[in-house]
Amino acid sequence: MDIASFIESIPETFNVNYVGTAKLESAHDFIRDQGGEFIARFPCSISIGIVLPNAIVDLLPNQSDMGVRISYNHHAYNIVNQRLDLATSQIAGIIQDAGYLAYPIPASRAPRDERLCGLFSHKLAAHLSGLGWIGKSCLLVTPDHGPRVRWGTILTDAPLKPSRELLEDRCGDCTQCVDICPVHAFTGKHFIPEEPRGVRYRADVCDRYFQSMVDKGDVRVCGLCLYVCPYGRSNQKDEY
Ligand code: SF4
Ligand code: SF4
Repeated sequence: MDIASFIESIPETFNVNYVGTAKLESAHDFIRDQGGEFIARFPCSISIGIVLPNAIVDLLPNQSDMGVRISYNHHAYNIVNQRLDLATSQIAGIIQDAGYLAYPIPASRAPRDERLCGLFSHKLAAHLSGLGWIGKSCLLVTPDHGPRVRWGTILTDAPLKPSRELLEDRCGDCTQCVDICPVHAFTGKHFIPEEPRGVRYRADVCDRYFQSMVDKGDVRVCGLCLYVCPYGRSNQKDEY
């Protein structure tokens, strides 16, 4: 199998909006510290991304409405995660059949431990693939859909080349995600790879906010930082 042609065919074959490939060597220590040696042994990654439905994300400011909460949680979270998991599983199977190791990372759900992060950062792989930059919101921001994209990753030892140049941070003076957060989880600092996430984002504060919803028996929904980014807002594109 010609791997490069297969990667190119992924959006059409698996009904996803983004695909990108990266070499992970530059982030090896970070990846090992987060996920362990069994994750860090893979030299390359394939990122896939699905754009969230604007008709639902645009309603997030009205999230006190239970209908909005249920729609977002179902279609912009659970269903998109299932689509990503299905696609990464199928892609990993095809790469394995071609003679390489392929490890599909589960789509992001609840964090796995007290560090409030997953097994592997989908955003990091997508960033190293040149698909977007890490914004002040700590989300991966794409030029065309902002952070309104959910990501999946396949780690592999197939010999892949990076698909694009790294994208520069385009947040500039914008602070919309910082200002809208109801619990002030962001510090407003730009992403610098060498700095720990805590310099920009207090994940524990965001997590407690979500936990307070669970404690009340409510549906876990916020996403205002994702909604507000001008690079993704469907009603603000032309102004930015
Ligand atoms: S999801 Fe909500 S609470 Fe969490 S960081 Fe974003 S805006 Fe703040
Ligand atoms: S809302 Fe503004 S500061 Fe936040 S990620 Fe988007 S462009 Fe960057």
